[in-house]
Amino acid sequence: MIRPQPTARVSSTSQTHGGSAMDNPLDFGDRTDFTNADRGFVAALTPGVVTAADGRVVWDADAWAFLDGECPDTANPSLWRQSQLCARQGLYRVTEGIYQVRGLDLSNMTIVEGDTGVIVVDPLLSVETAAAALGLYRAHRGDRPVTGLVYSHSHADHFGGAAGVTDGDVPILAPVGFMEHAVAENVYAGTAMTRRASFMYGATLPAGPAGQIGFGLGNAASSGTVSLFPPTIDVTHTGQEETIDGVRIVFQLTPGTEAPSEMNFLLPDHRALCLAENATHTMHNVLTLRGALVRDARIWSRYLTEAITMFDGAADVVFASHHWPTWGQDNMTRYLTEQRDLYAYLHDQTLRLANQGHNAAEIAEMIQLPPALDAAWHGRGYYGTVSHNVKAVYQRYLGWFDGNPANLWQHPPVETAKRYVDCIGGVDAVLTKARDYADAGDLRFAAQLLQHAVFADPARGDAKELLAQVYEKLGHGAESGIWRNFYLTGAQELRHGPDVTPVDLGGGMAAVLSIEQIFDTLAIRVDAPKAWHDTIIIDWTFTDLGQSYRTTLRNGVIVQQRNPPAGNPDLSLTLTKAQLLGMLAGKGLGGITHDGDLDGLKRMQGYLDAPDPRFAIVTP
Ligand SMILES: [Zn+2]
Repeated sequence: MIRPQPTARVSSTSQTHGGSAMDNPLDFGDRTDFTNADRGFVAALTPGVVTAADGRVVWDADAWAFLDGECPDTANPSLWRQSQLCARQGLYRVTEGIYQVRGLDLSNMTIVEGDTGVIVVDPLLSVETAAAALGLYRAHRGDRPVTGLVYSHSHADHFGGAAGVTDGDVPILAPVGFMEHAVAENVYAGTAMTRRASFMYGATLPAGPAGQIGFGLGNAASSGTVSLFPPTIDVTHTGQEETIDGVRIVFQLTPGTEAPSEMNFLLPDHRALCLAENATHTMHNVLTLRGALVRDARIWSRYLTEAITMFDGAADVVFASHHWPTWGQDNMTRYLTEQRDLYAYLHDQTLRLANQGHNAAEIAEMIQLPPALDAAWHGRGYYGTVSHNVKAVYQRYLGWFDGNPANLWQHPPVETAKRYVDCIGGVDAVLTKARDYADAGDLRFAAQLLQHAVFADPARGDAKELLAQVYEKLGHGAESGIWRNFYLTGAQELRHGPDVTPVDLGGGMAAVLSIEQIFDTLAIRVDAPKAWHDTIIIDWTFTDLGQSYRTTLRNGVIVQQRNPPAGNPDLSLTLTKAQLLGMLAGKGLGGITHDGDLDGLKRMQGYLDAPDPRFAIVTP
């Protein structure tokens, strides 16, 4: 429970982000989304709790019951409404032969009935939730075997539960490049992303009207076991058609959209179109705030145009791997066109203004969506926002530097903070000023000032508490669920320090890393100043893979070379990939044969740093 302390206080004057019911064009009387979210309802999972084998709760749909109430002062009404929609859970009929289990994880599981069993599309994030979802389906539709699996894209909430629905002995379809991207996005910067993801998803916030209420794409991510079976059938081109268990599927590849490896597909005999995560009922992220490679809003809109054209008239319903379907030609066309226009608009208008000399922070304030897009519920910034998506488009083309030399070589945060605090006249003076700005409603600048106070003197509890209160107000006003979570997690950590609940982005699956990726992850951990006087050359022969590598540690970097020419390594190792992973996990050299001096291996391991999963964010 978060309680304000009496030592510091900000006024109740609030400043919201993204508008509230009072100042935006939203039609709360339009209940179409609720009708669609409830359409085809078969049954809920009762109770709505999924546990792991050890009894740990990995999903609790019942935790969202409080969302049935009126929107409180501690939430943005638009986000509250979205969270009500995302909180609905159960088995739903989409159309004849197609069902979805929604609200039992961050994502949807779609089940297509075939001749002899069912094809599962996107088996959720966790094995446990996936098994529960399939169980719910079977309880109402019969104990049909799983005869095929489709991964719509390379994000873990669309494949992690695979082992909960199959032992892998079925055709598994995925877009080309799936395996590489399924692990790559979360490997190299994995610890930093995971730490930031705990902010983004509010993983440590209690669910409740003043805490976690969901983040627009779904209300939470499950915390069970993540699995992955490699695909057996690659979808390599648009127009590719496959028949699985008698079900015809026509694919459209959409690489570089919401994920680097992604695909839409039509079920022509069902007249149903799946848009993966390329069109959902929120504005999506061009750059996710946990951190990732920036996405391409131009390509994203281009592929939506292709989908609209390619599947025109071929479907009566469009569904995705998040949120509820949209039925009817006119509704589908309007929805897809508006989603398409949204990403095109963000891209084009950001660059128009950049070419007029405005920088990212300026453009983020300048861009206004066209009235029709602004009023469309599915275009609202629950997950992505106009503000951070504009900055992402700028980043993609122009990077972090705005061209102004004053911003080229700034001091880092603590040094900057000390100087600002000195200029303003000390921490007390900063707090007085910050309180004034907060009272006047300028919470954004109050947060900036207070962040300087906290970074200049992290021992000042009153500064941290005042900043926590400002973050709380910013969070409670935010229409974006992930902005809310960042602010509220920031407030919580200012008061109590980091409480890190692991958020599995799918990066923990060491067994599916390639040898190249494993060596890359080692290279990233080298504490270079310790290592840069040493040179260690090791040849590695992997008997199970028929691959050989040479790693050279020199100048503080580990360089890898596949199929190296004959040489004079310090050490040659003959092993399997499992033995390499075992060795790196500290299980020793059991079964590994070697030729040469093992001391080099020991020295190399001694140079490896461990990442810090609890690093400070809101304090220095
Ligand atoms: Zn997803």
